[in-house]
Amino acid sequence: MHARKNSVPHVDPSDSMELKDLFSRTVSYLRLSLTDRCNLKCLYCVPEKDRSECSPRLDHNELLSYEELLRVVRVAVSLGISKLRLTGGEPLVRRDIMHFIDQLTKIDNLNDIRITTNGVLLEKFADPLAAAGIKKINISLDTLKPERFERITGKDYFTQVWKGIERAEAAGFSPIKLNTVVMRGINDDELEDFVRMSQETIMQIRFIEFMPIGSSSSWDKKAYMSSDEIMERIGEMGELIPVSKGKADGPATMFRAGQGAKGRIGFISPISHRFCDRCNRLRLTSEGMLRSCLLDDRETDLRSVLRRGGSEQDIQQALVDAVRNKPKGHQMEERLKNQGENCHGRMSRIGG
Ligand code: SAM
Repeated sequence: MHARKNSVPHVDPSDSMELKDLFSRTVSYLRLSLTDRCNLKCLYCVPEKDRSECSPRLDHNELLSYEELLRVVRVAVSLGISKLRLTGGEPLVRRDIMHFIDQLTKIDNLNDIRITTNGVLLEKFADPLAAAGIKKINISLDTLKPERFERITGKDYFTQVWKGIERAEAAGFSPIKLNTVVMRGINDDELEDFVRMSQETIMQIRFIEFMPIGSSSSWDKKAYMSSDEIMERIGEMGELIPVSKGKADGPATMFRAGQGAKGRIGFISPISHRFCDRCNRLRLTSEGMLRSCLLDDRETDLRSVLRRGGSEQDIQQALVDAVRNKPKGHQMEERLKNQGENCHGRMSRIGG
């Protein structure tokens, strides 16, 4: 299936402007992909052919400008969005990011702004982010071995990332949340090391199922491990004690690896235990498309609305329509079983 752009259907003006879908889910969480550029070339994110050469990138004018993004966020907040995540690509490579974040923090009723980063630039940005009022950072790290880091990401930046993690902890982002995509034959032999880290430090390690996103990325059915399988492997190390979820845990199910563990481990299972019935998310891709489901290629073209001079009401309408078109659930498990079909959008443009 190729990315389809939803034409914006007419909505009766008597319908109230709220971000509620046809299945009674209320959308309160917006994820912004600020850029498709990244300082890493992770094998699961960048198509194989682009890892050795320059990945095709959006032109600057294809990205939404900060002014456009701020306009969208203000309208989204007026419709009930209360949580925002900045992602990408790598959000910290976008020029003048701190200026943008400062503007975001001034938006009334938006008190929860988070960021997902690969950590490469965190040593420089951790303090300014903390000073700006960002409360939570997720850092993606799939291996604790420097040589393997280079193989997975295409760059020899492990030490830089580790320094960034330390800087973020020192800046008060504690506990640090690490996101780890588990891939059979690539990093699954490190599960025990990550679990040990959660026992010895207060870090939270969140194991994420490898998702089939991005045509011609290195998605491989054989590399996919379900959370149940990951949990079984970890269970061999000892008891997994369920802990109640905090508000910040999102769709993760959380555990402690033994009574004395200082940190926690979480499992995010978008494929095997999909959480679509609780999904409260809307995504804005770096080229300005609203995407109501990570694993469904249908999108609503918000950039055109903005650039043809759309009013606040037009933006509201596009947001409401995108939410109304949110599918009941993704069909990825069935699609994989039947045809092994991949979702086409590029992860760096969607933002994860
Ligand atoms: N550059 C930032 C980073 O690395 O965290 C933000 C963008 S990245 C696309 C967001 C998250 O998506 C990362 O945690 C990454 O590991 C995850 N991700 C990317 N491709 C994935 C895939 N095929 N399956 C599961 N997670 C994936």
